[in-house]
Amino acid sequence: MRLPVYLDYAATTPTDPRVAVILSQHLGQDGIFGNPSSNTHSFGRTAARAVETARTHVAALLDIDPGAIVWTSGATEANNLALFGVMRAYARKGRHLVTSKTEHKAVLDVCRRLEREGCAITYLDPNSDGSLPLERVAAALRPDTVLVSLMHVNNETGVAQDLPTIGALVRNHGALLHVDASQSAGKLPLDLQALPVDLLSLSAHKLYGPKGIGALVVRQRPVRVRLEPLLYGGGQERGLRAGTLPVHQIVAMGEACRIARVEMEAEQARIRRLRDRLWQGLAALGDVELNGHPERNVAGILNVSFAGIAAEALLDALPEIALATGSACTSASHEPSHVLRAMACDAMRMRGAVRFSLGRFTTVEEIDYTIDAVTAAVTRLRELSPVWETGQGSPKYRAVDWAAP
Ligand SMILES: *Cc1c(COP(=O)(O)O)cnc(C)c1O
Repeated sequence: MRLPVYLDYAATTPTDPRVAVILSQHLGQDGIFGNPSSNTHSFGRTAARAVETARTHVAALLDIDPGAIVWTSGATEANNLALFGVMRAYARKGRHLVTSKTEHKAVLDVCRRLEREGCAITYLDPNSDGSLPLERVAAALRPDTVLVSLMHVNNETGVAQDLPTIGALVRNHGALLHVDASQSAGKLPLDLQALPVDLLSLSAHKLYGPKGIGALVVRQRPVRVRLEPLLYGGGQERGLRAGTLPVHQIVAMGEACRIARVEMEAEQARIRRLRDRLWQGLAALGDVELNGHPERNVAGILNVSFAGIAAEALLDALPEIALATGSACTSASHEPSHVLRAMACDAMRMRGAVRFSLGRFTTVEEIDYTIDAVTAAVTRLRELSPVWETGQGSPKYRAVDWAAP
């Protein structure tokens, strides 16, 4: 086993070596380096074919037409394009958007900006287990609601929302549904033939592809979703996202999605066993709480609060294990996580929350090492704590995965 142990797959994943090979084949003088828009020579045409093959791999993972895929620089840009794009294109129909308080900042910060542009936004409160009650979504819909934007799997807690039910509700109401699927694509089944989702954001680096590439899925049928572009220029991607296509990044994302489709089921079962082993090992400490939903969750994320200690102190005591407190994007600010706050966690629980995220290269040796190291560190920190008293016990955590449709 090599140190440090990486348990921060929800922040980013290492690029799969098979993906890195394909990526490097699209660089250099002997590689497929042409500009896909250069249709006057074979360099450009070969590159364009590579891009279209990658598009079919991404589309196959979601069971949707390749024509629905728009390449972006990642999920942040995809979320920006979905929210600004729809709210501007449908401004005459209405200016109300519904989202939740547990969304990624790449949605929440866009919503703040949209408010300044005159849009009305409803921010839904989740239950204490992170799930969104259907009645609360239903109650938020108004005649002028144009868009509902909800993430599939939360990046801090791993909680998965009930997309089939929420999607049906939104569609019946006549609004569009955007889903940030950065943490679920390649992990939970996402069948867009069956799911009433109109726009969906993806990020390659959360599924063993490189950073800096992602996609927005824009449904074409039964109704074509209209979008106002964010970038203007060479007219690439049917005018929805101008800019020379990054061929090496795109083929790498395509390969990452191809591998995910083939290996997802077995891989998630293996990761779920490791996650449950980790939870059982940590829960044996006592006075440990699970932040999230015991059943509706993705296999690779475990968010745990250790009563009586500060998460930062635990992470400082474990430099040989890569872990996260809040999400990586907010951890610099040292504010309590907006996600746990929305789930109405108390201050002590937010202070002691640590996210363990597992993935393709996590081994059982790493999990056992982590259980031992965390147990020793938590025990020591609790002994040092002047206020610590034991006795709450740990809740049951059922090892059942919840799959979408
Ligand atoms: C990582 C992540 C993003 C941002 O994706 P980038 O490709 O890094 O821009 C957005 N939403 C969620 C849920 C994420 O986990």
